[in-house]
Amino acid sequence: MKEQLDALVEIQELEGQNFKIQSELDRMPERLQQLDDRYNSFEKEVGTSVENLDEMRKACRSFDADLADNDVLIKKNKATLTTVKTNKEYQALLKGIEELKTKASKIEDEILSYLGRIESAENEINEKKLELKQIEQHIAAEKKVLLQKEAEDRNILAELIEKQEEKYKVLDKKILDIFHKVKKGTGNTGIVVVKNAVCSGCHMNIPAQMYNELQRLDSLKFCPFCSRIMYWIPDA
Ligand SMILES: [Zn+2]
Repeated sequence: MKEQLDALVEIQELEGQNFKIQSELDRMPERLQQLDDRYNSFEKEVGTSVENLDEMRKACRSFDADLADNDVLIKKNKATLTTVKTNKEYQALLKGIEELKTKASKIEDEILSYLGRIESAENEINEKKLELKQIEQHIAAEKKVLLQKEAEDRNILAELIEKQEEKYKVLDKKILDIFHKVKKGTGNTGIVVVKNAVCSGCHMNIPAQMYNELQRLDSLKFCPFCSRIMYWIPDA
């Protein structure tokens, strides 16, 4: 029985390590995804800025075209000035030309405003693209570290599983089943050390007679308070 209990203690340790490594491995895809998400979200932001810039350039070109049309009209009206017959017509044409000039000035203001905004948007995008490049490099480095750790964890896990399998062979199938059942029922410990008649699982005092029986190490004994398998080690 002592050998079985020793093996259970070791199995518990190995399974604990296994669980920890497996949890790390399970989290890996999510961690890698988070890195990709970070990059993609910033890339999207840059994309939106580029789209906005294109819109502004388009609007600016449209104002340029309006200005050109307006200039054509002004020239046409000016040419007509020389052909009008009456003063009334002449005055009306002059008024029209003035209005077109006012319109041209407004369009020019719009164009100037767009040019300023386009310039700052271009600068902003250039900065963002640089930042994106840095993020990309940073993420690639982080990924490399994570993947390296994943490879190491897989090796450790393989070794742990091998050790576990060896221990499982030593253990009586019935005892192993009981251990796993108790372990499942109590969270993550199936076997607990009892020292100085105190259960290390629930910190209760083990009744004297049971404690005496426990020290014989001839059968599985369960803590009457937390139901875990008890493993006696000599009092300090
Ligand atoms: Zn207990």
